[in-house]
Amino acid sequence: MKIHIDIDCFFVSAARIIDPTLNHKPVAIGGRSDTKIFNKDAKNQTVNFENSGSFVPTFYKAYETKDDDLSSFTDENGKVRGILTTSSYEARAFGIKTTMSIREALQLCPHLIIKAPNMSLYQELSHKLHEFLSKRIPLVEQASIDEFYGDLTGWVDEADIPAFIDNLRHEILREIKLPVSIGGAPTRYIAKLATTYAKPFGCKTIDKYNFDTFVNPIKVENFAGIGKSMKWRLHSTQIYTLGELRNRRGTVESWGPYAKDLYKRVNGEIDAPINTTHKRKSIGISRTFDPLFDRVELKRRIHVLARHLSYAILKLNVTPTVFHLNISYEMNQNSHKNISLAELFTEKKFDTLCLQLFYDADTQRRLQVIRLSITCSSFTRDSKKELSLIGFQEEQKMRKLTEETQVLREKYGIDTLKWGSEM
Ligand SMILES: [Mg+2]
Repeated sequence: MKIHIDIDCFFVSAARIIDPTLNHKPVAIGGRSDTKIFNKDAKNQTVNFENSGSFVPTFYKAYETKDDDLSSFTDENGKVRGILTTSSYEARAFGIKTTMSIREALQLCPHLIIKAPNMSLYQELSHKLHEFLSKRIPLVEQASIDEFYGDLTGWVDEADIPAFIDNLRHEILREIKLPVSIGGAPTRYIAKLATTYAKPFGCKTIDKYNFDTFVNPIKVENFAGIGKSMKWRLHSTQIYTLGELRNRRGTVESWGPYAKDLYKRVNGEIDAPINTTHKRKSIGISRTFDPLFDRVELKRRIHVLARHLSYAILKLNVTPTVFHLNISYEMNQNSHKNISLAELFTEKKFDTLCLQLFYDADTQRRLQVIRLSITCSSFTRDSKKELSLIGFQEEQKMRKLTEETQVLREKYGIDTLKWGSEM
């Protein structure tokens, strides 16, 4: 049996450890995206990188807001800015949702308490929970900052699993002061699904006896791995629930390898092992900002993001070979582009490449942009890709320059050296 452990509204629960008066109240964590990095005179910026793929504690001192009353979410004109990243169940009862704007949330629930994020606290608690779980379960995988998988096969008898995870949940609350929900199932995919339905602070075990009654009525979009486009594809063939999906094997499998794999995941036929090595699979940076039309300024922001990400790539000492850029526009429009390039990593080349990706991805030129994100993945050490030798000598020179720049930046800050194009 596999189990999936997920912290309930993690950032709010963490805030409640620090301030227990927040218990039982509608609380949300709001974030103004850290757009300070775009200021032309930015100095001593710290960067908080996203952890897509496996979780590795960041080595950056995360951005923190000291005073977390509403004033930190108002701009110079007194307007409330920012979005919610997490909300308590008491807040959700008012219709409050993640990624809702703070302004909108306050209209729904005027007495909502909004706190600023505290990334270093989250990292610390996440680490504590990981340590705790490693002592209780032989195989533990950290899937994100607030999500873990465990393998209980051969460790706990199937019949004892409901009691084991129920006890684990209470133990975590006692020891770490965090409420978690736990799902148990024959595969990790179904365990994750079970957790969703166990929330908040609950447990759910799925075995061969209740598999069909649990899985079949669930809407397809609630299964991890079914995104917007897959959802529409399924809907277009009258498949709305997982049960309907399971009944239409031929249809689903005719859509190609991803759908084939998806079918088996829903059906509990395949599983992936618990990976305890927590290897980082990708690294990215993104920023959300006030709607911006000015393409010149957007390009400058691409340079800024590229510089920060380049710093992190060099610090991690990895060579990414797949580069992905995503643009979010107003009115829920998105556009993305990616490129594979198996070459030595140098900052100048990376900067040029990001700009090219932006040109190619920017298909909605009449719309304002609200978010830019760049992700790099498929590191050579994992994919065992060979680097191209064309122009290798010239590349090595550039690489040396990149490394020298890095030394200076590690000493004096990421803002020490900038490309002319950024000024
Ligand atoms: Mg969670």
